[in-house]
Amino acid sequence: MTTITELKTYGLYVDGQWKETSESMDVLNKYNSEAFAKIAMAKNEHVNEAVKGAKLAMKQPLTPYQRYEILTKASKLLLDRREEFAQVLALEVGKPIRESRGEVERAAQTLEVSAEEAKRIHGEGVPVEAAPGSENRMAFTVRVPLGVIAAITPFNVPLNLVCHKVGPALAAGNSVVLKPAEVTSVCALMLAEVMSEAGLPAGYLQVLTGDGAEIGDALLANDDVRMFTFTGSPRVGEIIRSKAGLRKVALELGNNSATIVHHDANIEQAATLISQKSFNNAGQVCISVQRVYVHEDAYETFVSKLHEKTAKLVVGNPLDESTDVGPMIRLTEAERVEQWVNEAVEQGAQIVTGGKRNGSFYEPTILTNVHDDMKVCRQEVFGPVVSVATYKEMDEVIEKVNDSDYGLQAGLFTNDLNFAMKAAREIEVGGLIVNDASAYRVDHMPYGGVKRSGTGKEGPAYAIEEMTEERIIVFNL
Ligand code: NAD
Repeated sequence: MTTITELKTYGLYVDGQWKETSESMDVLNKYNSEAFAKIAMAKNEHVNEAVKGAKLAMKQPLTPYQRYEILTKASKLLLDRREEFAQVLALEVGKPIRESRGEVERAAQTLEVSAEEAKRIHGEGVPVEAAPGSENRMAFTVRVPLGVIAAITPFNVPLNLVCHKVGPALAAGNSVVLKPAEVTSVCALMLAEVMSEAGLPAGYLQVLTGDGAEIGDALLANDDVRMFTFTGSPRVGEIIRSKAGLRKVALELGNNSATIVHHDANIEQAATLISQKSFNNAGQVCISVQRVYVHEDAYETFVSKLHEKTAKLVVGNPLDESTDVGPMIRLTEAERVEQWVNEAVEQGAQIVTGGKRNGSFYEPTILTNVHDDMKVCRQEVFGPVVSVATYKEMDEVIEKVNDSDYGLQAGLFTNDLNFAMKAAREIEVGGLIVNDASAYRVDHMPYGGVKRSGTGKEGPAYAIEEMTEERIIVFNL
C-alpha cells in the first residue's frame, strides 16, 4: 500500500495537457488541515479555451464501440489504482478509508455501466404512415450527442458523482468540461489521468479547478455549452437554472431524508441500517437519514437499539481502518451543525447521544422530542445528526414525510404490504426504499428527486437520455 506523503501540484487539464495558472490553491487533509496537494485556479480565458477545445474534439466523433472500449478500460485502470484513489478520498473529503474504497469500487461500476450503455443508445420506429396522406412515408428516430456538457460536482462524493456525469456524457458521444468542488478536486484530476491512459482523445474531457462562482459564470456565459449537469446545493442549482436560459439543465440537489419504522418492522435490522446510514461520511450524503418516524409502539425499543449501535461508532482519523466517522468538510460546517443542534435543544429537543463538537469533528448525534419546524428537521443538516419522532397512523406519517421542501429518497421498514403499497403511491420522492433506510443507491438505478431536490435523473441509462437529442428521420418513398 502506497501512502501519499508528497505535496503534489496539479495544473488544469485542458486539451490533454496540464496547464499551470498564475494562482493556485491548497487542498487540505481534512483530518489535520495540512496541505497535501495544490490545484490551479482557472480564470475566464481558461474556461473559454476549454470549451473551445471540447467543441473541437467532437469534430472527430468516437463510435459507440470506441466509447465502450475507452470507458471499460478506464473502469479497469481505476480499480488498478484503487488504494491510491481511496487514500486521496480519505484525505480530501475526510471520508473513512473503508468507505472511500467503497466509493472507488462504485465509481468503477459507474464507468462500466456507462460503457455498456454506450452500445445500447437507440431510437425507435415512428409509424408516420398511419397518418392520412403519409402512406408512402417511413420514419425512425436516432439519438444524437448534445455537444459540450458542463458538469459541476459537489465535495461529498467527489469521484463517483464525477463518474456519474463524465461516464454517461462520454458514452453518449459528448465532450465534457468538468468543474469539481474546489476542496475535493484531486480525485477528479486523477480521473483525467485515467481517462487519458484509457485512450480518450484530447479535448473530450477538460477539468477546470478553482472558484465555483467564477468558473460557473464563465461556463454559463459561453453559448457553446449545450447542457449543465449539476449536483450540489439548491442555492447554486437555482443560480444555474436562472442563467442557463433555454439550454438543458439537470439538477441533483439536497434533501432532508425521512425513514419510517413501523411497529411490525424488524427493529434490530432498522436500527442497524439507520445507525450506519445516518452517519456515513459524517452525514454528508444527500440521502443520509435525517428524520426517523417510529411508530409509537416500537419507539422505546428502537431508540435504545439505535443508541446502542451509534455509541459503538468509532470517530477518528479517516486513514485508520477502524474509523467509522471522520471530520466534516470544514470547521464552519461543524460549527453550523453545532448551532442547529443547540437551537433544537433550546426548543425542547433531547440529546440521546452525541451533541459535542471537537474542531471539525461532530459526534454522531441522536435527537428525540423534536418537532418538524426545528432546523434539524426542516432544513438539510448535511451532518451526523438524526432526529427521531413518533407517529400513530399511516396517513399521519405519510403527511409528515411529505411536509418537506425536498423529495429525493425515503425509507420505510414494514412487513405490511398494504402500508408499503400506500407509501409507494403517496410519498412524494424520486425513490422509496422498502425495508432499508433512505440511503440506498446502486449506480445503474434511476436516481433523482422531486421538489427542491432537483430535476432530471442520473444512472447512466437515464442520464444518457438527457444528454442526447432525439432526432426524427422521415423518408418520402
Ligand atoms: P455547492 O452547491 O456548494 O457546490 C457544488 C459545486 O458548485 C461546486 O463545484 C462549487 O464550486 C460549484 N459552485 C459554487 N458556486 C457556483 C456558482 N455560482 N455557479 C456554478 N457553480 C458553482 O454544494 P456542496 O457543498 O459541494 O455539496 C453539498 C450539497 O450537494 C448538498 O446540498 C447535497 O445534498 C448536495 N448533493 C446532492 C446529491 C444528489 O445526488 N442529489 C449528491 C451529493 C450532494
